[in-house]
Amino acid sequence: MISITEALQLIDQHAAQLPPQQVAALTAIGCLLAEEVASDVDSPPHDKAMMDGYAVVAADLASGVAELEVIEEITAGNMPTKAVARSQAARIMTGAPIPSGADAVVMIEQTQPLENNRVRIEATGIATGKNIMPKASSLACGVTVLPSGKRLRALEVGVLAEVGRSEVSVVPRPRVAVLSTGDELVDVTEKPGPGRIRNSNGPMLLAQIAAAGGVAENLGIARDVREELTEKIACGLEADILVLSGGVSAGVLDLVPSVLAQQQVTQVFHKVHLKPGKPIWFGKRDVDGKTTLVFGLPGNPVGSLVCFELFVRRAIGILAGLTSNELQSAEVTLAETFTHRGDRPTMFPARWADATQQTALPLAWKGSADLAAMASADLLLQFRAGDAEYRAGDRLAGLIL
Ligand code: AMP
Ligand code: MG
Repeated sequence: MISITEALQLIDQHAAQLPPQQVAALTAIGCLLAEEVASDVDSPPHDKAMMDGYAVVAADLASGVAELEVIEEITAGNMPTKAVARSQAARIMTGAPIPSGADAVVMIEQTQPLENNRVRIEATGIATGKNIMPKASSLACGVTVLPSGKRLRALEVGVLAEVGRSEVSVVPRPRVAVLSTGDELVDVTEKPGPGRIRNSNGPMLLAQIAAAGGVAENLGIARDVREELTEKIACGLEADILVLSGGVSAGVLDLVPSVLAQQQVTQVFHKVHLKPGKPIWFGKRDVDGKTTLVFGLPGNPVGSLVCFELFVRRAIGILAGLTSNELQSAEVTLAETFTHRGDRPTMFPARWADATQQTALPLAWKGSADLAAMASADLLLQFRAGDAEYRAGDRLAGLIL
């Protein structure tokens, strides 16, 4: 059986960043930009007023007081029609183009309208350029605004719009299909009959995929019947990653590994020295230039959750082009002394012990079938194999949920 570290290394070896794809900018938040984006416009496109007020010749205000003739009114979106000469001014609104001849803007609060299209201004410090943003001072046409490799946030979507890009080339979100296997499973909408349970892993995994930046595809439930598994797995192999839950342990109906083998999915590893999550299966299919990574997660809900957070999330991250920094797990501090017993490295549910989320406390937990107790967990703490006493202040690897 391999260790968690060896399993992660094998995932790193077999997962690769997806090829770039042109997508709508609005759907690209969180994606890695796969092209250099240059501006197709000057911003601002003209010398622009930064205040509502009057466009003036600065020299007219050398004494700090002037009475000027108002020759026109310029609103944002319209072009001036007249040049401003000495002793003249144009009423101007924020964002509007500065008329020729004017070289400063006096804000409205420092002015007083008079009769006969005249204005009185009392303002000191009005020098050339006052309250004017020069043409192309934010951005010149042809200049790179976003470098390739930048992770897109909402503000980058705004920058893309400014330079006329509604579509952009990015490393796309991986498509991740989920198939829950098991004769005992009924859909969330049904009341389970005798011997049956609801499929909780399916919805949980779909939600985990969305939270991890993947595009989740729900394949529903497959019975532990070879034909049904074969058909639904074939569907799932169209995705970038196929996540199965259940059917990978040692039961008589744990058919998943053999059905995968029949569909040209090559096993990379089966079973990891880990609790919960030991039965995890990982493989890869390369057919006709299409690569699909396949994870068979244990049916046990907590095992499923843990294996997703440890392994599937990492694979999604690699396909989406996350850096090794972004893929790293956190280190957290234990808040109180804790004794952990067990022969396998254990991902143990814990909660934050302080408001700043620096220290953590393990929860009272009944083991891998106890999903309900997990609801109060904020993170998973990784304890070593073997019985050991940990002290307050010990540093442990943690997976934040
Ligand atoms: P398996 O890995 O198929 O042997 O399943 C292990 C345990 O997990 C059994 O108790 C199953 O009933 C349970 N289980 C399997 N799949 C699911 C699922 N989708 N949702 C909730 N529990 C499940
Ligand atoms: Mg099963």
